[in-house]
Amino acid sequence: MSIRENLQNIKKQIGDRACLVAVSKTKPNEDILEAYETGQRVFGENKVQELVAKSESLPKDIEWHMIGHLQSNKVKYIAPFVSLIHGVDSGKLLKMINKEGAKINRKIPCLIQVHIAEEDTKFGFSEQELNDLLTEELLQSLTHVKIKGVMGMATYTDDEYQIRKEFGLLVKIFNALKKGVFSENSEFKEISMGMSGDFLLAIEEGSTMVRVGSSIFGARNYNK
Ligand SMILES: *Cc1c(COP(=O)(O)O)cnc(C)c1O
Repeated sequence: MSIRENLQNIKKQIGDRACLVAVSKTKPNEDILEAYETGQRVFGENKVQELVAKSESLPKDIEWHMIGHLQSNKVKYIAPFVSLIHGVDSGKLLKMINKEGAKINRKIPCLIQVHIAEEDTKFGFSEQELNDLLTEELLQSLTHVKIKGVMGMATYTDDEYQIRKEFGLLVKIFNALKKGVFSENSEFKEISMGMSGDFLLAIEEGSTMVRVGSSIFGARNYNK
């Protein structure tokens, strides 16, 4: 099936229940343009260099999301144009995003990454770490960051029960933050969870944003 057909299929399944981030990492510009032609405007990349190169050579109305692990010293390269940073996984990174945003007078939209998977290979905060980090004092100091919600990745498994449980945990943590430190922040509303293998489960559990790559563009070849 073509990229166009894949996208149409997936959009039909999602409907207006969640925002679709088309994950185009490792894929060439022509693939992105094919998706663009069908009306897709939101794309996700996980490497800073690739994100910058693609944003420079592709249409300017594309919204670029940084979905991968981001090193603090690379924030400056994407600060001027990135539409959303999904994986904010340390206080250091959050402060650096604020600093780079201040330099260019831009409020940079972010999601806080929460560790929900059983594996300890995945990045993100625990609920306790979030409570310790997100003090009123810190939030007041973040004048150039827009915290729009949370992001999480479930364990890589076929066990649907396990995946639902982890997505449910992310929703629970989101709701607690929404009622707590972000109760005055009407922009705190996104839950980014769900990938090719589990985006429908994620939506059923309350996802507002799914990050889908291989189901749209086909399997990735990292040896290219
Ligand atoms: C690659 C990636 C995805 C998309 O994965 P697929 O299984 O190809 O849909 C989603 N989220 C993150 C953080 C990724 O790195």
